[in-house]
Amino acid sequence: MTVGPAVKIPLLDLREQYAAIRDECDAAVRRVVESQQFILGPEVMALESEIAAFCGVRRAIGVSSGTDALLVALMALGIRPGDEVVTSPFTFFATAGVIARLGARPVFADIEEHSFNINARGLEAAITDRTRAVVPVHLYGRCVDPAIFEIAAAAGVPVIEDAAQAIGARDARGRAAGGIGLGGCFSFFPAKNLGAFGDAGLVTTNDDDFAERVGILRVHGGERRYYHRSVGGNFRIDAIQAAVLRVKLAYLNEWNDARRRNAASYRRLFAERGLESQVVAPADVDGHIYHQFVIRARDRDDLKAYLADCGIGSAVYYPLPLHQQECFADLGYRLGDFPVAERAAAEVLALPVYPELTETQIATVVDAIAAFFAGRPPG
Ligand SMILES: *Cc1c(COP(=O)(O)O)cnc(C)c1O
Repeated sequence: MTVGPAVKIPLLDLREQYAAIRDECDAAVRRVVESQQFILGPEVMALESEIAAFCGVRRAIGVSSGTDALLVALMALGIRPGDEVVTSPFTFFATAGVIARLGARPVFADIEEHSFNINARGLEAAITDRTRAVVPVHLYGRCVDPAIFEIAAAAGVPVIEDAAQAIGARDARGRAAGGIGLGGCFSFFPAKNLGAFGDAGLVTTNDDDFAERVGILRVHGGERRYYHRSVGGNFRIDAIQAAVLRVKLAYLNEWNDARRRNAASYRRLFAERGLESQVVAPADVDGHIYHQFVIRARDRDDLKAYLADCGIGSAVYYPLPLHQQECFADLGYRLGDFPVAERAAAEVLALPVYPELTETQIATVVDAIAAFFAGRPPG
């Protein structure tokens, strides 16, 4: 048996965050437990109006997860078998999984080299007369090109933003993620920038009809209880999660600012150590909230193993693009169809960027990267 090194700098440390706000979180949980009102109710309504205000939208509907936010949003659009929905091949599985679960066809368009987000020209070419929705993903907390929304609008196709990684992010025109398209889908999976104590999600919109449909589908499609015009599901958010999220929402801007500061420190240290030919850091873009700080690196897998030996956590989001997933083989895509996504899958590496990370820890990570490349021939 080999004993690995102690992890000195994890990719994410949620215990540090909890330690800083323990009393508030515990009080929020206790409040719900004392009330014994676990399903919907005042905590959920309060969270919905606070997130709506935070994102600058008219309506917010709390749901059971980010995946269910995407699923219920597409259900509210009436997506059904035979429909096409265009999205990125380089995202978490759920983005395309929900399309397939509705019997619709995920249609992929390649990503941009620099942002890892869906490419506007590729999207335009992927839209057909069967396209019923576009689902761009604000990957890693960076918003997609505003042209995406113009292209979809010109084609008369609604946009559902996968903003699971982007709460608090703004696009190149200063618009909040989740407030640009018809609907925005958020995840409060614990590791997201705003994380619950379990699974939770939310749908945002400025469209009252869409909000009504999502709200009805969230409770089995019953507009009046026990009378069903449509088939929905149990997509409710727990009141306990809503109460915890309300505590954390008050800190979100501060945490996102800290992530931006950490990203800036990495960029500065990469330049100081002369690492710019070995690793490509994400550009400094206004509104990016760095859910992940993702570099491109030569010899990515070796670098990841080296960092692990140094006690530094890192991760690959995502190692296999969606068009290459076994479950989507029947879509008929081939290796080489989306070369930019395929190359990204081979080169990306997420480094620790969580808000509580110290300047010294960031320097330790960069030193380790420098040490790794010092022993290799220049590429
Ligand atoms: C996390 C995530 C989801 C799914 O959210 P869950 O809350 O885990 O269901 C969907 N899309 C993207 C891009 C994500 O990062």
